[in-house]
Amino acid sequence: MNVEQLYSIYLQHPSVQTDTRKLGQGDLFFALKGPSFNGNQFAAKAIESGAAYAIIDDVAFEVPGRTILVQDVLQTLQQLAKYHRQQLSIPFLAITGSNGKTTTKELIHATLSSTYKTYTTEGNLNNHIGVPLTILKIRMDAEMAIIEMGANHLGEIASYCDIALPTHGLITNCGKAHLEGFGGEEGVRKGKGELYDFLRDHQGTAFVMWDYTYLREMSKGIPRIIQYGTEEGDVIGNLLDSDPFLSVQFNKGFSGSIQTQLVGSYNLPNVLAAVAVGRFFNVAEESIRQAIEGYVPSNSRSQLMLKGSNKIILDAYNANPSSMKAAIDNFSKTDGDNKVLVLGAMAELGAESIQEHQTLIEEIGKQAWKEVILVGGDFLKLQHPYRSFQSSIEAGQWFKEQNVQDSYLLIKGSRSAQMEKVLEYL
Ligand code: ATP
Ligand code: MG
Repeated sequence: MNVEQLYSIYLQHPSVQTDTRKLGQGDLFFALKGPSFNGNQFAAKAIESGAAYAIIDDVAFEVPGRTILVQDVLQTLQQLAKYHRQQLSIPFLAITGSNGKTTTKELIHATLSSTYKTYTTEGNLNNHIGVPLTILKIRMDAEMAIIEMGANHLGEIASYCDIALPTHGLITNCGKAHLEGFGGEEGVRKGKGELYDFLRDHQGTAFVMWDYTYLREMSKGIPRIIQYGTEEGDVIGNLLDSDPFLSVQFNKGFSGSIQTQLVGSYNLPNVLAAVAVGRFFNVAEESIRQAIEGYVPSNSRSQLMLKGSNKIILDAYNANPSSMKAAIDNFSKTDGDNKVLVLGAMAELGAESIQEHQTLIEEIGKQAWKEVILVGGDFLKLQHPYRSFQSSIEAGQWFKEQNVQDSYLLIKGSRSAQMEKVLEYL
C-alpha cells in the first residue's frame, strides 16, 4: 500500500494511536517497535479493542482484512505525517533549543490560540514518534501549527524538518544539554542549527533572540528574520521584576508590561519570543497580554508552591549545566530567608559530566545557603562539603526527620533524578 492509499484510510480514521491502552473506536493503530517491545504483538488486541486497522511490519501478526502490512511501521508513520503536512497550507512554526522549548511553545500556543485555530505538540512529544503524531492530530480547520522538536544528536532536527516542513522557526538557545550525543557545545549549535539550515533553504522566517550573538551568527542568510531581545530588535523587553514571578516591561514592539505567573528571570526570553511571534502574526496586544498572563506552568516546570511553612520552587522537570546555573542565579536573587538547594545530578553529559558537576559545586560554593542537598550521580563521586544522598527519596526522608520548616527551597534535577519525590516528605 502506498502513502496516498494509506492517507485516504487516515482521512476516514484520523485518530492515530501507538498505545493500545489509549485506543478508541475506529482508531488507526501503528504497531511500533521499541527497545523492549514489539507493537506487532498488540495488533490483534488493538483490533479487538476497536481499532479500524492496525499497521504492522511483521507478516506473522496479520489479521485478514484488518491489518495493513508495510515495510517499516515507524517510517510509514513519518511518511504519512509528511503527506498530511503537505495538504496543509498554513504556517508551521518549529521550536527547538537546549532549554525552554516547552515553555516557549506553551506561551506561543496561548498567544496564537487567542486568534487562530492553533494545533501544537501535546506535553513534550517532541521526538521521532512525537513529531509525526503531533502532525497527524492536526485537522483541516487548522490555521497555525507549532511543533516542538527535541534532539540529542546531529541530524535529528533535520529529519524532523523533513517531516514537518516548517515555514517559521525558533531556536530558544544553545546551551550545555545532551553534550554526550552532540559531542560538545559546537555540536549542539550545529544540531539545533539544522532548523535554521532548513529555513535558509526553504524561504523561511526565523524568530531570533538577538541578545545571543551565536544565534545572530547562525541565522545569517535566512530570508526573513524577526529579532527579539533586551537591547535591540523588533521586540524589546526588559526584566521589571522576577521575585518570585517574572514581569516584563516592553520598550519596543509592544506597549506596557506583562505580569506573568512564571518563576525565574530565565523565562524572560521565552516571554519575548511569544510576544514577537504574536505581533508578527498580528495578534492584538491585549490578547497577547491576556494569553501570557493567564499561562500557569505545570508538570514541575518552575512552579512556585507552598507546603506547610516552606516555600518551594519546584523545577524538577529537567536539568543541565545551563539551566542549573540560570535557576541558581535566579534563586539567589529572589527575596527570602533560609534558602535551601536540593539538586539532583545532571544526566547525559558524557565525558564532561564530572567536570560539569564539579563546576556546579564551585558555583554553589560562591554563596551561603542554609543547606545544600545533592542527590545521586556524579555528585556522589566528587569531594564537597555538602550533604548528599543516593536518591531523592532518601533526601526526602532526611527532610522529614529534620522537620525542615520556614525554608525556601529550590528543587531541581534531571528527569532521571525524580527530584519531585522530595515533595512528598515536606
Ligand atoms: P526538554 O528538553 O525536556 O523538552 P524544554 O527545552 O522543553 O525541555 P522546558 O520544559 O520549557 O524546556 O523547561 C524546563 C526547564 O528549563 C525549566 O523549568 C527551567 O528550569 C529551564 N529553562 C526554561 N527556559 C529557559 C531558558 N530560556 N534558559 C535557560 N533555562 C530555561
Ligand atoms: Mg520540552
